[in-house]
Amino acid sequence: MSCGVLPMHAAPDIAVEIVALTKQYALGMAPAVDQINLRIASGSYCCLLGPSGCGKSTTLRMIAGHESVTHGDILLHNRNITRLPAAARGTAMMFQSFALFPHLSALDNVAFSLKMKGVHKAERHRRAAALLERVAMGHLAQRKPGALSGGQQQRVALARALITEPKVLLLDEPLSALDPFLRVQMRAELRRWQKELGLTFIHVTHSQEEAMALADTMVVMNQGLIEQVGSPHQVYNFPANEFVARFMGGHNVLRSGAGLVAVRNDHMRIAPAQDAGASGLAARITDVEYQGTYVLLGLRLDDGADEASGMKQVAVLLHEADYLARPFEPGQPVQLSWDESHARALGTGAQRQAAQQPKAEPQPPRTRRDEPAPVAA
Ligand code: ADP
Ligand code: MG
Repeated sequence: MSCGVLPMHAAPDIAVEIVALTKQYALGMAPAVDQINLRIASGSYCCLLGPSGCGKSTTLRMIAGHESVTHGDILLHNRNITRLPAAARGTAMMFQSFALFPHLSALDNVAFSLKMKGVHKAERHRRAAALLERVAMGHLAQRKPGALSGGQQQRVALARALITEPKVLLLDEPLSALDPFLRVQMRAELRRWQKELGLTFIHVTHSQEEAMALADTMVVMNQGLIEQVGSPHQVYNFPANEFVARFMGGHNVLRSGAGLVAVRNDHMRIAPAQDAGASGLAARITDVEYQGTYVLLGLRLDDGADEASGMKQVAVLLHEADYLARPFEPGQPVQLSWDESHARALGTGAQRQAAQQPKAEPQPPRTRRDEPAPVAA
């Protein structure tokens, strides 16, 4: 959604605005984060998503104040926090549960940062106990982390981050150390807490599945640039470019008369080659993977068809019932096609802007009027 099409009074309240934010760790190296612009709506769950090394953590650490900014600005509720120390920003980082102090009770873990601020014991315990109640951990306040389950530790870690009453909670791969079952459970909890607390969450993950499950808005990053901003539905159904389509998965990227298009695996049509009237790309089944609700077919396009499509490997996802009604075998020749209404035209992808010269005059930050940054609403 572009802010430009909305009347001014309908613009969402922006919690975090990032303007031309850049991080260059060393001169001569490509910036880890390259002049990115982003606006994150207040009270929303925003996921920064992208492959390892694309600059997600660097972006989050710059927002947190744990990493210096090379160029650009960070605004929190219209206050420029770019050069403020971490503790003065109104942000807090939720660290993974294994970062809890093992020798302290849940209560003292949560109260720890208040102790550092010199808050006296009765007051910090009162506030920590109230927060532990809030995350349904009040009855376990005296337990040490080692005597808590992974999920309970995660809640203590959340309470510990919330004790400073941040406006924005920052989470860097908070679920990656958990086993898959707990990860799915904790992801539902994070989502529920975010809604209950009404806080803005910015959550870094390399998992599309996690981002889709959690985010109001996903920000897809690649090599220090933002490729696409949108709701999970928008990004999955309308990938902006080839990178996003491939990174999100579940799509085939194919060449068509209209240029490159993405077609969802479950939107592909497949017919046995011998069927009368079968038309489209000739391919052969290479593997059949049973997934429960779905069956995933791997295919290799025949010579000629791969030239036309620009691809060799294609995947088709069938409902179990459709597959059972008409099973396919490895080695079987088939014809693939798709409905034009399911083909998403792909754009060229984010482009690096000209590098800012270290000696150049400092540039005024680009304002909303020059070029609207995408709104993460
Ligand atoms: P992500 O969190 O998306 O995996 P990072 O933000 O950690 O990516 O890293 C982005 C890029 O910056 C990578 O190329 C990484 O090697 C580099 N980088 C990260 N931290 C540092 C650092 N402290 N010094 C130098 N380079 C770094
Ligand atoms: Mg990271």
